[in-house]
Amino acid sequence: MIIVMKPYATKEEIANVEKKLVNLGFTTHPIYGEIKTVIGAIGDKTRVEASNFSNMAGVEAIVPIMKPYKLVGKELQKEPTIVDVEGVKFGGKELVIIAGPCAIENEEQIYSVARSIKKSGAKILRGGAFKPRTSPYSFQGLEEEGLKLLHRVKEDLELLVITEVVDTRDVELVSQYSDILQIGARNMQNFRLLSECGKTQKPVLLKRGLSSTIEEWLMAAEYILSAGNPRVILCERGIRTFETATRNTLDINAVAVVKELSHLPIIADPSHGTGNWRYVSAASRAFIAAGADGLIVEVHPDPDNATSDGPQSLRPEMFDDLMKVLKPIAEAVGRVL
Ligand code: PEP
Ligand code: MN
Repeated sequence: MIIVMKPYATKEEIANVEKKLVNLGFTTHPIYGEIKTVIGAIGDKTRVEASNFSNMAGVEAIVPIMKPYKLVGKELQKEPTIVDVEGVKFGGKELVIIAGPCAIENEEQIYSVARSIKKSGAKILRGGAFKPRTSPYSFQGLEEEGLKLLHRVKEDLELLVITEVVDTRDVELVSQYSDILQIGARNMQNFRLLSECGKTQKPVLLKRGLSSTIEEWLMAAEYILSAGNPRVILCERGIRTFETATRNTLDINAVAVVKELSHLPIIADPSHGTGNWRYVSAASRAFIAAGADGLIVEVHPDPDNATSDGPQSLRPEMFDDLMKVLKPIAEAVGRVL
């Protein structure tokens, strides 16, 4: 980090900062100016808070040099990470499309969606068993029964599956049934859950928090990587803004920014991002054109009677059309669908 001293900081103030840095194990590289002095400090910053220095007399600003996320950023790894889930690769040339209902409701529903999305070219089936609903009175999911159903579909139809884990106590259970652990927007900063998923070797789909900056999101991913699990896929699912015409505001900038800052793959969720099936196709097309590595799309055979997120769910035929429309866009940006 660099410590910038205030104009005309006294010799004593400068010496105090240098002394504190040396005591903390840093080597100091000061540039003494007539008006302003800056001190470069090299050393292990893990046990030092910027505020340890910013309150000292004569200090104007602390400028970090390294990004706060070490494993997720590109400082230690330049080449893109490919998260390989039993041969389905996130972050490679081929795009990965995940599709399925918001919630697993019953056997007939999940089998029928699974068959149709597979026929349309989706590689992974989504379906919530533990639903993080805004209201405690809304359908909360079939829980373990839902996980078992999902697993049966996986075996019968040879599809990979993804489902959300909402509690540290369920990480082991969900890992037994699901190929990917989904961490939802509401849990993006549930640090215990992040670390618990980081202790497994299951791929983790980490959704962006409802009101999270990209840096906070990358720091959340850092929790998973630093706990020992490098297999993280990021998912932009829209953030809360002043706009009310759509459920959330999809941040298309996130694709380019994340690709610049991190080696991790990033996909988009146009369903939660828009909250309206009418906008799902446009948002999907835009994200693929922008360079996203895939999509997660809600599909339901009977959206009008869905227990959750019906208004944003595509009917299977609409999903099939979407896959056809996406193909030439993927090819135009050098990807394969
Ligand atoms: C979901 O995928 O069904 C979900 C609840 O998404 P999010 O966490 O992005 O709101
Ligand atoms: Mn949903």
